[in-house]
Amino acid sequence: MLDEKENLTENLSKVDIKSLLPEELEAELEKMGEPRFRAKQIFRWLSAPISSFDGMTNISKDLRARLSERFYIASPGVERKQVSGLDGTVKYLWRLRDGNFVESVVMRYEHGNTVCVSCEVGCPMGCVFCASTIGGKVRNLAASEILDQVIFSEADSGLKISNIVMMGIGEPLDNFENVVRFLKLVNHPEGRNIGMRHISLSTCGLTEKVDKLADLDLQLTLSVSLHAPDDETRSKIMPVNRAYGVDALLAACGRYFKKTGRRISFEYAMIRDVNDTPYHARLLADKLAGTGCHVNLIPLNDVPESRLKPSRPETVRDFIGTLEKRGINVTVRRRLGPDIEASCGQLRRSRQLKEEK
Ligand code: SAH
Repeated sequence: MLDEKENLTENLSKVDIKSLLPEELEAELEKMGEPRFRAKQIFRWLSAPISSFDGMTNISKDLRARLSERFYIASPGVERKQVSGLDGTVKYLWRLRDGNFVESVVMRYEHGNTVCVSCEVGCPMGCVFCASTIGGKVRNLAASEILDQVIFSEADSGLKISNIVMMGIGEPLDNFENVVRFLKLVNHPEGRNIGMRHISLSTCGLTEKVDKLADLDLQLTLSVSLHAPDDETRSKIMPVNRAYGVDALLAACGRYFKKTGRRISFEYAMIRDVNDTPYHARLLADKLAGTGCHVNLIPLNDVPESRLKPSRPETVRDFIGTLEKRGINVTVRRRLGPDIEASCGQLRRSRQLKEEK
């Protein structure tokens, strides 16, 4: 057994095989003098929770040895696992090969089990209400490291995963290439084969990347973290807004809908006296009425260092009323795993607190 440090140096010269698309894997195997169908066999194995080539029983010993000289198989370790006693939500803290950590959450819904995956170690966006961004961004995740959250969450929890939400740590459109690669891998019929319509991607609104995503015309659900209908409020809570502005973002969302035919879902965390006044409700209704979008209100989750408070129930009720009167489809997000801090914006913090102590 190699120790972790040796493993890391060993990996520096090796290729991350799980991040390769099937056609890239074919090209690699061709270089090794192997027939194309081998690539297919190997690609299938890479959706299984394996950590070495030894498990690939339909591949010859000789080829397995040659593969392990050239490639490595990413596979995370479970650093910590918490199961909610209230609703069965499972939260994982994964240990990556370089010693970094990311979290995933498996949620049990009637329509199927959903895994919420992270796409970066930390997050560069700086939203004031979110714990994932405290400490900034450390690095992008590779496609394999995002895919592994699906594979290993399912294998460890025993819960068959049918849906994916990219709503964990990080900003998916800030790690665009790897995220698109992950989507292609997880969607592939010979891979995990999860349909695009079973995948949601949430962004804080990097406007030109929303257009870039629209060009790919994937049939996933795009969720946009709006959280305010006006620049003054939004720039205060989401620094990204200083670069693009609400109207530019909404225009990009309109183009996205036109191009893909997929309705946008807007996320709106209800923050007391910050973005929940009748003024905000009316302006939001003015901007969204008639666009066919969906608004998902999120009760603000507690992040102690932010000092922001959730909206009062009667304020939420009035806010919903204003939107519904204008024909806008509104839902309020249910909170899962409250006893294990598994909700939006709470990921990663407890680990950091532990390290600070
Ligand atoms: N970077 C992406 C993915 C994060 S998804 C994005 O910004 O969309 C997580 C969702 O939870 C986002 O809508 C985010 O704005 C929201 N969120 C973050 N902190 C929260 C908190 N404390 N309470 C409620 N929602 C929060």
